[in-house]
Amino acid sequence: MAATARLISRLTLVTGGGSGIGRAVCQRLASEGASVVVADISEESANETMKSLINNLRGQQHTAAVVDVSSKQSVKQLVTSIQTRYFQPPSVCVTAAGITQDDFLLNMDEEKFDRVIQVNLKGSFLVTQAVAQALVACGAPKGSIITVGSILGKVGNIGQVNYTASKGGVESLTRTAAKELSRFGIRCNCVLPGFISTPMTDQVPEKVINKVLPLVPLGRMGEAAEVADVCAFLASDDSGYITGASIEVTASN
Ligand code: NAP
Repeated sequence: MAATARLISRLTLVTGGGSGIGRAVCQRLASEGASVVVADISEESANETMKSLINNLRGQQHTAAVVDVSSKQSVKQLVTSIQTRYFQPPSVCVTAAGITQDDFLLNMDEEKFDRVIQVNLKGSFLVTQAVAQALVACGAPKGSIITVGSILGKVGNIGQVNYTASKGGVESLTRTAAKELSRFGIRCNCVLPGFISTPMTDQVPEKVINKVLPLVPLGRMGEAAEVADVCAFLASDDSGYITGASIEVTASN
């Protein structure tokens, strides 16, 4: 729940905003006063999120947009359309779009490996690059780009060689982006969620959940809103001296 209105007059973009963590981030940013562009590959789910957003705070104007983050053309079109509508680029961007296509290393086929890298890693690159280019071009004084990695990118996970590789890449991409973009006033940070209850983890078999949960000291899965809390902090000036950081949103040892 928002404690403040730290994001009044801020234009924000959230990819993967139609579901799970991305949807919770949209709701949290809007509850702090931001205008939110909810971008997702599914128009229907982006619209559903948009309808759920608080829109009565000063100057708020939300938009739902379709994007495929793995396509450079689609990402460029998205950023251009935001600038056309709002006469500015988003100064906050959260890249929550992501997919899994699991298999064991010995069986993983090339297509599954490539698709997960394209959406999770290349998608984060394309969105970070397009937003940063737009901010630099218009001389914006500050920006905050928040990528969504995963704790699994650090520790690995059986059956997810493609996903864990993509998320390790997202974290190091973010560190490099932070170093390159700090001179333009753009901060870049990565959140590393643990085991969060969303439509993505709804696919995990119950027997796996029953094995994992006893290893979590808090004894429960996290909520998407708990990841959104951290994203809102990183979006706001309360994190003004934090860049290049990875923040774990986990309850692991
Ligand atoms: P989710 O509920 O499946 O949400 C992901 C959203 O991204 C969906 O709306 C999905 O649309 C959209 N999407 C997929 N491919 C896209 C593309 N090419 N372009 C634009 N949007 C696309 O999953 P989630 O659990 O909220 O995950 C959000 C992010 O958190 C992901 O990056 C995930 O890897 C990361 N994460 C999740 C957990 C967890 O435990 N849940 C833990 C660590 C990290 P469709 O549903 O139509 O495909």
